[in-house]
Amino acid sequence: METQIGSCHCGDIEFCFVHKPINSIFCYCKDCQALTGADKWFGLWIPKDNFTFTKGTPLLYSRVGDSGKAVNYHFCDSCSTVLCAEVTAGNFYSVAATSLKKNTYTPKMSIYAASAPPWAIFPENVPKFDTLPPWK
Ligand SMILES: [Zn+2]
Ligand SMILES: [Zn+2]
Repeated sequence: METQIGSCHCGDIEFCFVHKPINSIFCYCKDCQALTGADKWFGLWIPKDNFTFTKGTPLLYSRVGDSGKAVNYHFCDSCSTVLCAEVTAGNFYSVAATSLKKNTYTPKMSIYAASAPPWAIFPENVPKFDTLPPWK
């Protein structure tokens, strides 16, 4: 079984998840820009049952997503790294790929591309959606 471990920058918070992500995305929405200080968030979608915090307790920052349901960001109160966002509408965590000890994943799609800043960089040969793909 595939297990991945990750942590915040200072190491106070650690997590792990099992099995492969159900999706891996570059998200260019305004909220992700604000939280990352960059053009996008690299998120791995992990069903909630497959994800656990193994060390420390992150703080929460909650916002209302496009769905009208909460998106809860989990971040470290020492170093401020955002480890994941709990997407309550989809019952999964969007885990920051940048927090993994070893990230071998690549993005499968670019979402919320319509909100991207003019200087955003999009990967080639990766499907791009103005918001979410039609299945959502
Ligand atoms: Zn930390
Ligand atoms: Zn986003």
